[in-house]
Formats: sequence, structure tokens, C-alpha cells
Amino acid sequence: MESYRVQVERLYERSPFYRNKLRAAGFESPRAVGGLEGIAELPFTEKDELRASRTADNAVGAHLCAGPREIVRIYSTSGTTGTPSYIPLTAGDLENWIAGSACSYAASGLAAGDRVVTTYNAGPFVAGAALDAFVRIGVCHIPVGTGSSERALLAIEQLHPDAVVLTPSYAAYLLELGDLRDSSVRRVLVAGEPGGGEPAFRAALEEGWGARVTEAMGIGDVGPSLWGECEEQAGMHLGARGFVHAELVDPETGEARELRDGATGELVLTHLRHRAAPLLRFRTGDHVEIRTGLCACRRTAPRVRCIGRTDEMLIVRGVNVFPSAVREVVGGFAPEVSGRILVRPRGAGVKQEPPLPVSVELARDAEPDAGLAATIRARVRDVLVVQTDIELVPWGSLQRSEYKSTLVAR
Ligand SMILES: [Zn+2]
Repeated sequence: MESYRVQVERLYERSPFYRNKLRAAGFESPRAVGGLEGIAELPFTEKDELRASRTADNAVGAHLCAGPREIVRIYSTSGTTGTPSYIPLTAGDLENWIAGSACSYAASGLAAGDRVVTTYNAGPFVAGAALDAFVRIGVCHIPVGTGSSERALLAIEQLHPDAVVLTPSYAAYLLELGDLRDSSVRRVLVAGEPGGGEPAFRAALEEGWGARVTEAMGIGDVGPSLWGECEEQAGMHLGARGFVHAELVDPETGEARELRDGATGELVLTHLRHRAAPLLRFRTGDHVEIRTGLCACRRTAPRVRCIGRTDEMLIVRGVNVFPSAVREVVGGFAPEVSGRILVRPRGAGVKQEPPLPVSVELARDAEPDAGLAATIRARVRDVLVVQTDIELVPWGSLQRSEYKSTLVAR
């Protein structure tokens, strides 16, 4: 692919980070790197390396490829480890982000003339660029942000939107605050965390909202809403096709895996047309399942379903456990449970000894039932092959969020 070759040439020419990294790996020149078919031979890019390459003169990092006058916007990450990372964009980068996001949201059925309530705060984060995609599609955009659920509920009641855009956690929380089944909302578009694609969780949201739920997914350093699910609800299509190249790798060995139907692994992304701070083989930390079968919507872009995040994964006696997968199994016990869980690892680090303690919140007005905890424990063991210690907790005792839920308590 021509855009990839141009991208690689730019990395050698402008990015000390990639020039050094690729040469150290034995790729003396762009010619040695070759085309996309050989990409699996190249080294990965990890978030920590980018962070480590920052200096007082260059707060972005040594992967920066554009001069200050070419940059039109600088986003930052939430910076969970201290200082935020900066994500600069040229005008062309911003345009590509908006076009890709618009493609993803249009796949979910948004069209010109729709009324859409969004709850993302533009703020410093890349999700702000996704909001520009709504202008591009031509919807009537009603931003309510986070911070006031009352404002969100009033906007839904008084302005009769066709769709809402929010995290799956917030979509679940709003259902506890208001009866939305008979609202005007026919589409609930979720993003920001795994969950929207989990069958039990999705079914609960669809039942409560009386609406179709589809999900979208992006990753801060690469782009917002890169993936968007179509109305067939069979996984998220790559909306940023042509801007981003997707690979699947074994999360432990890093070995490339074929993008065949049903394959699972960590998503690795490469910019194809990015100019400001392009990334090559960036490890996203998202564990996904690939869907390549023909989609009834006729889009040919590959699809993914997010299984969980690497940084939330635990290993219990050699078995990988994603808290979101535990939530999905527990969610199958609704209406006896609320669907909220909290995994409480006893030890520090990823490796845990069984049984893994899990708090499971009961449904509103549900009485603790001695048999229920045992049944949940047995089901989790059968499905996820992990021993748990299930503690039933009363309704309302686990935290609600307008943004992302915490599934692991350290
Ligand atoms: Zn489709």
C-alpha cells in the first residue's frame, strides 16, 4: 500500500525515535522495511517508550514528526501515571480523525437530521474530535457532557432525541434514575470501555432503553472512534480503514496472528496517513475477537468485538481472566443481580491465587440467597475456568459512574 510506504519514509526522515528503533532492529532504510506484507517483522511501539523519549524541549516525545507551525491541535491523555501524554495533530490528521469517526458513527445508523444527545466532555481528550464527527454527519447535536444526570434526562424528555451517545456504564446508570423505555431514543451508541458488546449487558441496556445498542471504539494515541458497529450488531467495523492498519498479535509472545474469523488476541495499530506523531505497530492493550464473515450490511471492513483491556487482566493459576468477562457471566443472572461486579484481588500484581474474590451486587429489593452465590461461582468456573469467591452485596453498594466503571479494586 502506497500510503504505508510514504508513512515509513516520513518516520525515517523526521522521527529520531523510529529512525533509531528501526535501525536498531536491522532495518537500515525504508527500502529494507518494504511494504505492509512485511510489517509483522518490525518492532512494536509501547506507550512507555514514547513517554520515556520526552524531554524539556520536546514534551510530545521523539516520535514527533511535524514542526510547531504544522500543528493545529494538541490533545492530552488522562495521565493515570502522572503527567499527561500530548497528542498533536496537523490539519490533515484532524480531518482524517473526523472522517474516520463519522464513518464509524454513520455505520451505527446516525444520519443527517437525527437529534443526538452526547455526554462526552470535549475537554482535553481525543473524544472531543469525535464530537466534530456529528457535525460532519449533519445531525442536530445536543451536548450535555457529564456532571449532571438531571440535565441529560431532561434533554431526553424535552428535546426528543433519536439517539444518545455515552459509555455503557452511564447508559446503565441513567436507567436507574429514570424510566426511559418509552422515551424517543431509538439508538444508544456506547463507547469508552468494553461492555456494549457483551450479550447479557447489551440485552439489559436494550430492554431498559427500548432501543438498539451499538458500540464504537478508539484509542487515544491512534484516533477516536476508529471502529463502529453497524445495525447488524455483529461487531465493530473499521471505520478508519485506509487511515489505520490493524493487526492481531499473541499478547504474551507478540507473534502475529492471522485476521481470520473468530481469532482472538491483542489489537496492534499502525497509522497510514498520520503526519504529526504517527505510530507504527502500537500495542493498544485491547483484547479483541476478529469477525471476518460477510456482514449483512455489505460493508467489507473487518470487524472486532472487544473482550477486555490488558491492564485489567488477571492471571489466576495460568488462566487469563478479564473482569469484563466475569461481569458478562454474572449479568446472565439478571433479574436477580444488578449486573454490577467488583473484582477484589488479594495480592498485588497480575498473578493471583484462587479463589478470586468477586463482589456481586444484587438487584433492587432482592434478598441475599445462599444458593445464588454458589450457582454464580459454578457458572463462572464452567465458563471462564476460574475459581472465585462470590460475595453478594446489597443493591446500591457498588459505585455508579457517568463515565467508565472500575471493575477491579486494588
Ligand atoms: Zn455490518
